[in-house]
Amino acid sequence: MKKWFAVIGNPISHSLSPNMHDTWLKQLNIDASYIPIHVEQDQLEQAVESLKLLGCSGWNVTVPFKEAIIPFLDDVDDSAKGIGAVNTVVRTLDNKYVGYNTDGLGFIESLGYILPEHNILLIGAGGAARGIAHAFERLGFTQITIANRTLEKAIVLVDELQTGQALTLDEAENNLNKFDIIIQTTPLGMKSSEASLPIQLNRLKENAIVADIVYNPLVTPFIEEAKKYNVRTINGLGMLVHQGALAFSYWNGVIPDTDGMIQQLIEQIGGNYVNR
Ligand code: NAP
Repeated sequence: MKKWFAVIGNPISHSLSPNMHDTWLKQLNIDASYIPIHVEQDQLEQAVESLKLLGCSGWNVTVPFKEAIIPFLDDVDDSAKGIGAVNTVVRTLDNKYVGYNTDGLGFIESLGYILPEHNILLIGAGGAARGIAHAFERLGFTQITIANRTLEKAIVLVDELQTGQALTLDEAENNLNKFDIIIQTTPLGMKSSEASLPIQLNRLKENAIVADIVYNPLVTPFIEEAKKYNVRTINGLGMLVHQGALAFSYWNGVIPDTDGMIQQLIEQIGGNYVNR
């Protein structure tokens, strides 16, 4: 039977994943398709049962189902267990459906060369931050600081990681020169929201890396501010593409072209963003 993949979410029409996976399938001559499926909030279980019955080869999961899908899967990989969220479902050879999470590792891949000694600051303690923090912890990073508007949520995440520290946003701003990699994970700076910064960047360390997981606009206010200090900046497109590439490799056994895809999406979104 021809392979087919899907992404489920609500809403789903804005998703860049179908375009991305279709392009990779064509580039690699894999005879398969990838379809977006809008699932009603109260019909997740039926949707998952239908995907299984129809023999879906694997699917991505996006907002708001990343946590809620877990009870309907046959198993959950360690990459998703600690976080409690699944973004990729893989069909095994004996037709079991196993949940993975490629978001955090995808983000880390997008950073390129980094060292376990690097001191990491995550701004935000929501779903995306949790995925990234757990992925760093699984890779052996120990210097992980979580700064959040609501300090209690940062403390909960640090407790889960059993390493690192929790700070308020003010404390993070005042101690910014201690961090090698600063990662903005709040929705601040997204197209329709107000263009403000979660923290000021005037105490940035020389040679710091500044990342924002938001990718629309390609140059967020946070990235724009970091560029003033002549440091390396990375936007959220790399995370999107690398999490997709990892999912693709779990399904098809081959890693697709990520650099070409980032260029393609830059042209699609519109702009002339250059990571440096
Ligand atoms: P979430 O679970 O709702 O968490 C949002 C976080 O942002 C919370 O820590 C929240 O703090 C903080 N926050 C919200 N508004 C704030 C404000 N005005 N000032 C300071 N902090 C604020 O969201 P999420 O799922 O983590 O997603 C966050 C962003 O990441 C979204 O823009 C999403 O599109 C993007 N994302 C990108 C990718 C990618 O592939 N590039 C993947 C996943 C997500 P409190 O705890 O105080 O509320």
